[in-house]
Amino acid sequence: TPPQHTKNSRQENILITHERANFICEQEIEGILAHRQSPAPAQVRELLVKAREMHGLSMDEVARLSFVESPELLQEIFSTAKQIKEEIYGTRLVLFAPLYISNRCANECTYCAFRATNTALKRRTLTQAEIAEETRILIRQGHKRVLVVAGEALPPQGFQYILDSIATVYDTRIGNGEIRRVNVNLAPQTTERFRQLKQANIGTFQLFQETYHRPTYAEVHLKGLKRDYDWRATVFDRAMEAGIDDVGMGVLFGLYDWRFEILAMMQHFRHLEEKFGVGPHTISFPRIEPAFGSDIASKPPHAVSDADFMKMIAIMRLAVPYTGMIMSTRETAEVRRTTLALGVSQISAGSRTDPGGYKDGEGDPNSSQFQLGDHRTVEEVVSDVVSLGYLPSFCTACYRMGRTGQDFMDLAKPGEIKYHCHPNALSTFQEYLSDYAGPQAKSAGEKLISIELQHMDGQQIACALPMLNKVRRGERDVFV
Ligand code: SAM
Ligand code: SF4
Repeated sequence: TPPQHTKNSRQENILITHERANFICEQEIEGILAHRQSPAPAQVRELLVKAREMHGLSMDEVARLSFVESPELLQEIFSTAKQIKEEIYGTRLVLFAPLYISNRCANECTYCAFRATNTALKRRTLTQAEIAEETRILIRQGHKRVLVVAGEALPPQGFQYILDSIATVYDTRIGNGEIRRVNVNLAPQTTERFRQLKQANIGTFQLFQETYHRPTYAEVHLKGLKRDYDWRATVFDRAMEAGIDDVGMGVLFGLYDWRFEILAMMQHFRHLEEKFGVGPHTISFPRIEPAFGSDIASKPPHAVSDADFMKMIAIMRLAVPYTGMIMSTRETAEVRRTTLALGVSQISAGSRTDPGGYKDGEGDPNSSQFQLGDHRTVEEVVSDVVSLGYLPSFCTACYRMGRTGQDFMDLAKPGEIKYHCHPNALSTFQEYLSDYAGPQAKSAGEKLISIELQHMDGQQIACALPMLNKVRRGERDVFV
């Protein structure tokens, strides 16, 4: 593709140079999906034996598992996914919250309430003071990790607004608390701007391709820079070239056939591994939710049923065992609970999708991006996951210790993660219990910590116990 000068939403002239994203090959995917038949039980079991070795699965193997329908075999897939998740992640579950800073947008994504022509939507771009206010609320809820989200239209300050917003979140403190990792979900950027984001200390750059199917992509993106499929699909190449090696990929499920989309994600994954030696840090699984002023969001053309959703998550756990999997509050508490056992390793909690929504309370449907499925508070989510035996983690250590990209994968792959992440999960959960939890959550949480200690080996205890004691004595931000 020849270089193009494109005006973005602020009429800034930015040079868009990018290649065609040839690593997404529809023909290859369609060829693999052509044999739409359920594999024989022996073949499925063979694949599950292979998956247990935790070296991942090929696209062809993923496709075959995606056609399994027998309840008995599905149960075997689910229990294999659970085993793998427990082996790699133990009981840990990382918590975060989105922080919407602006719902102004120059694009026209038919599924999103923020799209430019939705004149009924109440528009708002938070000031730095308002961002600090939202951040204080999240800190008081116990959060340490925030995902900054924005529509794709910059205020008069331009890109500096984004950089200032990230700095505001990091600089805001209250009591013992602070946000220690700011991830972002923003428009695709140029390499130069990615350098600035790296400088601003972002954790993960997250972006969803929405759909990898070109014709569908063209149908649902009607205006603005987002119409350019390749500019979006090559985004992680630019991020990684700029030194951001934690990237988060995803698809908006419901726009096109989910089987096609997961195979395309695997192609994208393969491309990053081949070119940069490391795949994405996380994968997200948003399903389309009803959105103010959007018809397609109420009736997605390829809605993914709960049964297929569970199957897809379990299969992806087998396919990319070391990649974090994120489940947002788009889903109901019930669906989220089930997916935890299938491989999800990070969840959001207490979310609002309207700028200023934490201060305003309930979340304003007239300025929110989409409807939430899970309206529980952070404390309710924490108590629920504790009752299910999961250890809520507010850890942000890896990224601050420089364990990102390939370094993180090296640490993760031999299962070493349990000597870092598990003690860190315990110490940050202890911080949460000491500083933010109510009496009931606190006593359930303390019980869980003692159970966790009983299940640890000597090396883990030698690391975790002194850390826990430090936190109990009042020290904060204790990590290895
Ligand atoms: N504007 C940027 C973009 O589009 O990438 C980043 C922010 S956008 C608010 C974040 C994500 O929200 C989008 O990538 C899309 O997948 C998701 N989203 C949009 N409409 C949605 C809906 N109706 N239900 C669920 N997720 C939705
Ligand atoms: Fe704008 Fe992102 Fe919503 Fe599309 S998904 S309308 S780009 S905020």
